[in-house]
Amino acid sequence: MTETLSTPAPLGAPPPRDVLLEVRNLRTSFRVLDGVVPAVDGISFSLRRGQTLGIVGESGSGKSVTALTIMRLIDIPPGVIGEGSEVWFDGQELLSIPLGKMRRIRGNDIAMIFQEPLTSLNPVFTIGDQIAEQVQLHLKVSKKEAWDRAIEAIRLVGIPSPERRVKQYPHEMSGGMRQRVMIAMGISCEPKLLIADEPTTALDVTIQAQILELLKTIQQRTRSALLLITHDLGVVAEMVDNVIVMYTGQIVEQGTVDQVLLQPRAPYTMGLIESIPTVEKRGGRLSVITGVVPSPFNLPPACRFEPRCPYRWDLCRRVEPDLYPAGAAGQLARCHLHTPEGEGRRQPALEAHKVNMTAGRAFGKSR
Ligand code: SF4
Repeated sequence: MTETLSTPAPLGAPPPRDVLLEVRNLRTSFRVLDGVVPAVDGISFSLRRGQTLGIVGESGSGKSVTALTIMRLIDIPPGVIGEGSEVWFDGQELLSIPLGKMRRIRGNDIAMIFQEPLTSLNPVFTIGDQIAEQVQLHLKVSKKEAWDRAIEAIRLVGIPSPERRVKQYPHEMSGGMRQRVMIAMGISCEPKLLIADEPTTALDVTIQAQILELLKTIQQRTRSALLLITHDLGVVAEMVDNVIVMYTGQIVEQGTVDQVLLQPRAPYTMGLIESIPTVEKRGGRLSVITGVVPSPFNLPPACRFEPRCPYRWDLCRRVEPDLYPAGAAGQLARCHLHTPEGEGRRQPALEAHKVNMTAGRAFGKSR
C-alpha cells in the first residue's frame, strides 16, 4: 500500500528525518525582454526516503524547471528564485548553501538523468572515463577503484561485456544503450535521490519499457528515492507511489497514484486521463482538452484552467482557487468544485468524468 504525501512543515524548520526532499513555496521565474515569466509558482511537496514521486504536466508546465531549481542548475540571472522559496534535502536547505557545497551534493547525493543522453555525454571521452571521473571527483577514491566502479555500474544497468563497453565512445552505442549509460552514471555514486527528467521520451516503445523496468529495479536495489518527471501518465501508472499534476507552474492535483489516476478531482487531470487513447475507444472520437495553454504573459485572472474547463462558472473567473482537500484522504485539487460554493456542481462533474471513462480503461488491468 502506498503512503499519502506528507504535509510540508512550516517555513524555516527542517522536515522530519524520514522526509528526504521537501520543497516549500518554490517560485522560479525568468527575466526576459518582454518582462518576467513565472515558470514555477509557489509549489510545495515532499518525498520520503526510498519513495517514488511523479511530476506530470504538459511542456511549459514547470516540471523540468522545478528539477533544475532543486539541483541549482538555473542561471541567475536571467532566473530569479522567489523570496521564501525553500528546498530541504537530507536536513539541509539547498537554496541557501554555498555553491561549492551544492556541487558536492550534486552527482554524489542527488543525481539527474536527462532526456537526451547524446547531449549529456561527452563525445570525445570513453564512457568509462566519464563515469570514473565522476566517481573519483565525488567519492575521492583511486583511479583504479573508480574504473572498477564504472565497470560495476555498467554491469548493473544490464549492458553485456562491461569490461569492453567502458572503453567505447558514446557514438558507438544505440540510443537505449546510451540511456543505460546515463543511468549507470547517475547511480555510480549511490545517490540518495535520483531525478529522472523524461528518461524515456527519446526512445522507442520496447526500449522505453526496458529502461523503466531497469530504473525500478535499481531504485529498489539501491533504496534511493526517485523523482520522475514525465508528460506520460502511463509511465506514472507503472512507476510511482505518489503523483503531482502541474499546469502553468502550479500544482493542480496531488495524491497517491491510485487516487489521482483512478479518481481524479481536478478537471485538468480528468481531461488528461480522458484524452488517453485506449483499445476500447478505437474507431470513436478521442476526447481532447479544448483550447490551448495560456501564455505566461497573459494568464487568466483567477483559475488558470478556466478558459478550457467544461465545469467553469462565474466564481472561477473572479477568485483564484487554492489546493483543497478532495476525495480520498491526502488528495488535493486546485478547484472550486471542492469548496462549499462548488457543492452542487461537484457530483455532476464527477459523474461526467465517469461516463467519459466508460469508453475505456486507460491504465490496464492492474489499476
Ligand atoms: S476552479 Fe472552476 S474553472 Fe477552475 S478547474 Fe475548477 S471548475 Fe474548472
